[in-house]
Amino acid sequence: NRQWVLRQRPMGLIKPGDLELVEATLPDLNDGEVLIRTVYLSLDPTNRTWMNDTEGYLPPVPLGGVMRGLTLGVVEESRSGRFAVGEVVTTAAGGWSDYAVVSDREASRVHRAPGLPLTANMSVLGMTGMTAWFGVTDVLKPRAGETLVISAAAGAVGSIAGQVARAHGARVIGIAGGPDKCRWLTEELGFDAAIDYKNEDVGDALDRLAPDGVEMNFENVGGDIMIAVFNRLKVHGRMAVCGLISAYNATRMPPSPNFGRIITHRLNLQGFLVMDYAPRAKEMVTGMAPMVVDGRIKWKVHVADGLEGALDSLNRLFTGDHDGKLLVRVSEE
Ligand code: NDP
Repeated sequence: NRQWVLRQRPMGLIKPGDLELVEATLPDLNDGEVLIRTVYLSLDPTNRTWMNDTEGYLPPVPLGGVMRGLTLGVVEESRSGRFAVGEVVTTAAGGWSDYAVVSDREASRVHRAPGLPLTANMSVLGMTGMTAWFGVTDVLKPRAGETLVISAAAGAVGSIAGQVARAHGARVIGIAGGPDKCRWLTEELGFDAAIDYKNEDVGDALDRLAPDGVEMNFENVGGDIMIAVFNRLKVHGRMAVCGLISAYNATRMPPSPNFGRIITHRLNLQGFLVMDYAPRAKEMVTGMAPMVVDGRIKWKVHVADGLEGALDSLNRLFTGDHDGKLLVRVSEE
């Protein structure tokens, strides 16, 4: 059984040696435990934040500990009354490993959507879809005709959030890196406009596309991109603070907006965490699955093969060198 363990806390992008792939023997099962064979490992920007020894929403991964991660896998052995051998489950308790022994309370049964591949449960109808759905419908609550700006818009969360907001009547402007990602947003996903932050000034582009300002921001990036949008929020504007990916590898904190605008423009900034919405997962499935099944909501996964490549793959999230929700295929379905 191979597993990735954290050897030292990375500075900047993760480097070889920060984590190590080791062989480890599996413990015997106790009552109430299951042995899960990992099929897909979800790579998420927040994985990088768990490597830092800073106060977060979860404790840091300890040095020498198995790297934490969300996985989907098959129950291979069971001493649980809840799960039979062969069932497909997700868990955040196993981490970056071929196999894991976890308590049955830490695993959830996967309800496969008819006609969709299992990767949907690890993306558009999984944690990614939950983040997009609740960030839009519960935090921002768009009204018809309002304009929403989304950063990292061609990414896993951003691309779904934009489509959900459009389904709720909003006008959506996406910010993404490069002409191909921007074209995908406007030509395939139906975004009203896209800004290529690598080739144009975000503030100038917003002034051109929304000269009177914008009502909403779904923020995934932080730093200068966030400031450009924040400075164009209208009176009573709303911001869903979902992620600040530009800060995750930073050794110095990126610049912050001028909070005076929160007062002058009576802005509402709300951070949120998808894990708080776990009890409401059914709402997301009811609201979104029909649109996913009939193709109104489009989604992509980028599957990298092999647990051994997980570390290099994670860095793709920070360079943008991936096309859709990033997953590692650890073993065959
Ligand atoms: P994505 O698929 O969006 O991948 C990350 C993307 O971010 C990259 O493709 C890249 O896109 C962009 N990016 C990376 N670094 C920078 C940078 N320095 N400046 C500008 N853009 C950058 O990942 P996810 O959809 O999984 O996550 C998106 C955001 O949502 C993250 O901030 C993540 O932490 C957050 N998140 C929050 C959750 C919550 O509960 N609050 C849950 C899940 C995700 P490009 O090529 O366009 O530059």
